[in-house]
Amino acid sequence: MSCRHQLKNSQIGEDEIATIFKESLSSGELNVVLRAVYKYQLKNGFILFDPTDKASRQEKEFYDPDTNITFKAQWNPNRELRKDNNLLIERGIIAKDTDQSKLINFDENGHACHLCHKNIETQGLKEILVEIKMAEETFFAGANFASFTNNHFTIMSENHEPQKYNHKVPIAMMDFLNQAGDDFRIIFNGLAGATIKEHLHFQTGTENLPIEDIKIEKENILYEKADLRTSTPNYYLPLWIVESKEKEKVADIIDDLLGQWHKINENNTENILITKNEEWFRVFVYLRDKRRLSGPGKKGDVATFESSGFFILSYSPKDKMSNDIDELKTFNDLNLKTFKKILLSVSPDQKWSKANSKKC
Ligand SMILES: [Zn+2]
Repeated sequence: MSCRHQLKNSQIGEDEIATIFKESLSSGELNVVLRAVYKYQLKNGFILFDPTDKASRQEKEFYDPDTNITFKAQWNPNRELRKDNNLLIERGIIAKDTDQSKLINFDENGHACHLCHKNIETQGLKEILVEIKMAEETFFAGANFASFTNNHFTIMSENHEPQKYNHKVPIAMMDFLNQAGDDFRIIFNGLAGATIKEHLHFQTGTENLPIEDIKIEKENILYEKADLRTSTPNYYLPLWIVESKEKEKVADIIDDLLGQWHKINENNTENILITKNEEWFRVFVYLRDKRRLSGPGKKGDVATFESSGFFILSYSPKDKMSNDIDELKTFNDLNLKTFKKILLSVSPDQKWSKANSKKC
């Protein structure tokens, strides 16, 4: 196969879809390869439901004139299918009987790491891994089996290393965008929103995120030259935006910002979104506190998608009399205030970011 982005673990059949799929790979373009893999994983059932199928979910949008953002929420009960073990076995997402001695990197609960490519291969799962070079290291992209956005992938490092920010993180993210093209966005959840903290990973997809339209006014700009702009727009979380064509310059600024942020308190963490448009990277860094992960009416953590104005709601307790959070009620009662309230409730102390922005 003449493909720059080699596939691992590919149990691809010989039917018509498989032929089309294999042909699309020969272009070698990462953009084309990822879209083809995603389509194939939808057809062969690895992805539990089609995120573009409007009949299976509801969406609501609310425009916020203060920030110029159109906040979006999705009610997607199909997401809960990811907790149904029998279904996951049936769809080839997890294995029924695996010789545990053949697996590696167990967590404190005795579960083998889901993101180690060796474990995925050993278990003979349906997941197809696309090999990508990022930050001079090997990563693997695998379709997200409970996707809520089109072409949704998890990208995991070849090595089992912790989900922790360092210089490699923004470099790897920008290297990905240089190969995958402007349609893709890439995100990194620090210790706010990452479900697997033992293994470095990112997420990507092709849907625009509401934050991309945020209003940046003159007084929000900290630095502006022909090749670089940094700003702290008014938002409900402390947010820094760095824009430049220069990958290393961008990474150095993020390193500096997060280095200071992490030094203040061991609970300080971050969410990062990077987009690319006509050679310009746009990096959105949200300052977060790992003790403040979820807001009123929200069951799961606020991660980068939510920080960026796109809320996923999927959980409604079977017992309606229970005190458990009901995200369907949150969705039904939704208005602009709901988004603001949730973001403000997970926002760390904003004094630091405001004071520090004046120094820059
Ligand atoms: Zn691992």
